[in-house]
Amino acid sequence: MDQRTQMMAEKIVRISTAAARTIFVTFQKEGIHCYPDAATAPELADVSFLGSPHRHIFHFRVDIQVEHSNRDIEFIQFKRWLEQLYSSGVLELNYKSCEMMAEDLYVQIATRYPDRNIKIEISEDGENGAHLEFIAS
Ligand SMILES: [Zn+2]
Repeated sequence: MDQRTQMMAEKIVRISTAAARTIFVTFQKEGIHCYPDAATAPELADVSFLGSPHRHIFHFRVDIQVEHSNRDIEFIQFKRWLEQLYSSGVLELNYKSCEMMAEDLYVQIATRYPDRNIKIEISEDGENGAHLEFIAS
């Protein structure tokens, strides 16, 4: 191998080793929420129906930084842990905005997996939603 080819190969390995690694999981949860201010605020008159409790399928996507490529965090275990936060009542969907839900979820994830960059996307029925990025480093 000539010197140029050797340098190129070393560069590729260096970039690969230093890759910014994240994994992501998705899941869905049924929930009821409302936006009480919408029922009375004049500037929300066109969406006043949001003041009443209504159902969504909330779609979640959680991205989390990992340290290496050999299942630092295993997808299925991570997803199951996230889902049980809602089924066991640690976290509630009800009466919160997608942004509030993402903040609540971040606290739980960061407590279990500290010092990692995390992105959380939560939408109402896959249509409109929030995307929050929590930068640890
Ligand atoms: Zn809604």
